[in-house]
Amino acid sequence: MKYPAVRNYFGGDFVSADLPTLDVYDPSAGAVISQVPLSSRHEVDRAVEGARAAFPGWSGTPIKERVQVFYRYKALLERHIDELAALVTEENGKIASEARAEILKSAELTEFACSLPQITPGEVLEVSRGVECRIERFPLGVVAAITPFNFPNMVPNWSIPNAIALGNCLVLKPSEQVPLSAGRIAELLREAGLPEGVLQVVHGGKEAVEAICDHPGIEAISFVGSTKIAKVVYRRGTAALKRVLALGGAKNHLIVMPDADVEMTASNVVASMSGCAGQRCMAASVMVAVDRTDHIIRSMVEHARRMVPGQDIGPVISAEARRRIEGYIAEAEAAGAEVLVDGRNTRVPGREGGYYLGPTIIDRVTPDMRIAQEEVFGPVLVIIRSRDVDEALAVEQASAYGNAASVFTESGGVARYVMERASAGMVGVNVGVPVPREPFGFGGWNESKFGVGDITGRGSIEFWTRSKKMTTKWNREAGVNWMS
Ligand code: NAD
Repeated sequence: MKYPAVRNYFGGDFVSADLPTLDVYDPSAGAVISQVPLSSRHEVDRAVEGARAAFPGWSGTPIKERVQVFYRYKALLERHIDELAALVTEENGKIASEARAEILKSAELTEFACSLPQITPGEVLEVSRGVECRIERFPLGVVAAITPFNFPNMVPNWSIPNAIALGNCLVLKPSEQVPLSAGRIAELLREAGLPEGVLQVVHGGKEAVEAICDHPGIEAISFVGSTKIAKVVYRRGTAALKRVLALGGAKNHLIVMPDADVEMTASNVVASMSGCAGQRCMAASVMVAVDRTDHIIRSMVEHARRMVPGQDIGPVISAEARRRIEGYIAEAEAAGAEVLVDGRNTRVPGREGGYYLGPTIIDRVTPDMRIAQEEVFGPVLVIIRSRDVDEALAVEQASAYGNAASVFTESGGVARYVMERASAGMVGVNVGVPVPREPFGFGGWNESKFGVGDITGRGSIEFWTRSKKMTTKWNREAGVNWMS
């Protein structure tokens, strides 16, 4: 095996344990590259215990000192970008440029954490003569982050820098499908000077997640993954009286107007649906083509056909994922949809064992089809035709999800109209992947997010802290009875 068996990371060390394991695959070859332990409640207890022991020291360290770790961590991410990106490619399959972009995004997230002392100084006001009210933020204690397979480096970094810089100690439970990057993140943070126990990494699946939800020593959980599991974690975590922010799946709609710039729209739409092999919660999934847009669709088909699997598009995560995605395509075809570009039966020479699927564009899909409603999570774009912008918006608004939506048009009025009415937390104009960048937070609506606030940016400050409201009176002239 290329990599030694993955180990949990407790108290600043990687520790072995006699636990059942799962194989870890390189999706581009279909080969086993490592094994991941499936931790039980016992390991989660141990992770929490170590984090709790570290909490007094870490939360008592001034925030300006705490963020020094993250300045160094950011520099390490940048220095090791080639190696970190290669590891992401190996365990997740995404192509080199996408993996590099992921690490750069991790660095940007860390940069935001470094700015926290500048933007969280608290508030103070003299509310009456000699009487002062102030608000200060305090960390919660031990918190947890549970992450999905599609961004092995970036999604853990949605939570790690902010939660830890704000004074919490964090237990990370990475996806069992991509557990390798988490180990390097832990090593780099150790090198950056993070004290032992402040970050604990516990590997596993269902049992570890349930133990995190139930654990009385964990105050808050950030979860990123499918809607089905987001609901489980939200319900179970809040039932145990924790704060939970659970980000779920997506079904993102791009509304394309007939006046849209042809080349820019075609290239953006295809890049959005095929980037990271469509395994992005911000990927285009449905294009709602308004009125006469055949010329744009023709250009999209040309773009998609020019893409070389293995070079421009990586594999999907597993053989099972590929089967599931191909099933959606076959079902839509059987129901009368027209497959304009067919990514099925893609083989990459020399990597015959890889789980490749080429970009797929399906026209004449109707809103009642399963492929139009459910998350496919592969490089598949369906086209639904509509007569006008209101009909297009109705398709978007009917979705159970609400992560992202975008409109392609040259009209400012239409753009504003769609931005105001789309039922999604992140909307764009002439942008295929409307991911907000720091300091703006990331978070969807509807079944794409459960809980209050956003997972990154300013929204995350509220989530990872609790405020204390302090009233002081030092002025005897203010009287003895002031609001008493
Ligand atoms: P997943 O829900 O299968 O897994 C996410 C996490 O939950 C993993 O750590 C996994 O170990 C754990 N888990 C899996 N099954 C469980 C169970 N039965 N009980 C308890 N825990 C369980 O998601 P995935 O397949 O790893 O990731 C893809 C999904 O994540 C897609 O739906 C995608 O849209 C979503 N996603 C959403 C966002 C967002 O910001 N909204 C971002 C990235 C990914």
